[in-house]
Formats: sequence, C-alpha cells, structure tokens
Amino acid sequence: CGIIGYTGDGSILERLLEGLSNLEYRGYDSAGVAVATDPLSVEKREGELSNLAITLAEDRGQNDTGAGADESPDADGFEPLEVAADATGFDGPAGIGHTRWSTHGPPTDANAHPHVAGDGTVAVVHNGIIENYRVLRDELTAAGVEFRSETDTEVVPHLIERERRDGAERETAFRRAIDRLEGSYAIAAVFAGCETIFGARRESPLVVGFGDGGTYLASDVPAFLERTNRVSYLDDGEFVACSPSSVTVTDAAGTEVEKPVETVDWDP
Ligand code: GLU
Repeated sequence: CGIIGYTGDGSILERLLEGLSNLEYRGYDSAGVAVATDPLSVEKREGELSNLAITLAEDRGQNDTGAGADESPDADGFEPLEVAADATGFDGPAGIGHTRWSTHGPPTDANAHPHVAGDGTVAVVHNGIIENYRVLRDELTAAGVEFRSETDTEVVPHLIERERRDGAERETAFRRAIDRLEGSYAIAAVFAGCETIFGARRESPLVVGFGDGGTYLASDVPAFLERTNRVSYLDDGEFVACSPSSVTVTDAAGTEVEKPVETVDWDP
C-alpha cells in the first residue's frame, strides 16, 4: 500500500516513521521498517502504526539516559512515534518502511512487510500483487528455502538472496529477481550494511525525492513532502539505485535514463 525509503543524514528511523505516518491516509492493516545495519534491523506489527511505534519504543536500551529516556508506553503524554525513533540498534545508513493493505495472507505480524531473507541480509517492501508467486514459491521451497509468511511478496527477498549466493552483485541480484516477477509492483530493497536503496516498478507508482542531506524513495510524494519537493517519477519497467547524494535510473535493458527533476508546488 505505502512505501517510504530514506538514505542520508540524520535519523533513518525518524524519517521512516514520519513517512509511514504521512502515508496513513491511504489506509493499511499493518506496518513495518527495516534499517540497513549488519545484520538488518527489522520490526513489523499488525494494526495501527502506534503498535509498531510502541514496540520500537520498548526496544530502547535499558541504559538510555538521554532526552525522553523516562518516557514509557505507560507515561502520560507519551508520543510513541517520537520515542520510537530512538529505538536501540536501528542506526544503519539507509532504511525502508511499509504500510500494508493485505492481498495475500491475513494481516499478521509475520505477513507485515518488510520481508527478509537469509540471516538478515536483504529486506524488501512491496505494493501490488505478484501473479506468479505460487510457481516461484514452489521452486524456492524445493531448493530448501523456508518461508515465514503467507504473502506473495516473500518470494522476492529469497530470489535476491539466491542470486547473491550464486555470486551476483547487489544490483544484479536485485534486477534478476525482479525480472522473474509477473504482476504489478512497486518494490524497494535494502541490504545489510549498504547505503543504497534499490527500487523497481511496474503498474504501481514509485517516486524519488531529492533532499538536502539525503534521498527518499516512496510510493507517493506526501510521504516525504515535508522534507523535499524536488522529485522524479519512475516509469514502468524502470529500476533505481538511490544513495545519499546520487540517484541512478535505468530501463529494463539496463541503460541509464535521464529523468527530469520536477518541483511539486502543493503544500505538505
Ligand atoms: N500483495 C502484498 C501483500 O499482500 C502487498 C500488499 C500491499 O500492496 O500493501 O502483502
């Protein structure tokens, strides 16, 4: 349903939670985040965004004596989203978040995105429907992959992980996995310890936001509009690699595409 990614300066988790909050208007049944620590740090919860925020707030270290450290989920005036951004262990260089509107598998913690493969090496969020997921899931299961959710989405991180094991670079692994998908998708992926966010789209929107200290990748402009109004819209079949200060868009054949940067003139 909603996707937000961010790579750059400042708190990654704060930007992700802000983006998810901005995307709530679309409706959703679960929410989650993954930050590119090594291994990845992932938290996801069925229900309201506040469920995710409270879980993250509880993740704060016992020895945290910084600002807000005496706030707890039981305290009056508790702002889960603000406190959640201080969750322990989420200090990686990039991250992705998702609000899910389930199509395959009921709204549960396990079915919430991001979905992860390996020992936390790659995490994926997805909007849309992967029509051939059954075939892919059977193939992966036969190869020994154990699935942790009932979603169509979970085949994607496993396809990427298998390409990685066969020696492919991150971007090549991502492209090869996406090339196997049929259906509609906006997809974003992060790898453990890597500042680049990889994205791809077909029949589901994905937009890049150029911020001062970093780069956003989202399903909709409102996700990051309070941070930047300079955007590039991806077209069907395109791939994107976002790092804090550079964005590379390529077409299905792998040829680089020059995208216009547009200025959005509506208010956040
Ligand atoms: N088909 C995916 C799922 O059910 C993604 C749904 C969405 O677009 O939020 O998990």
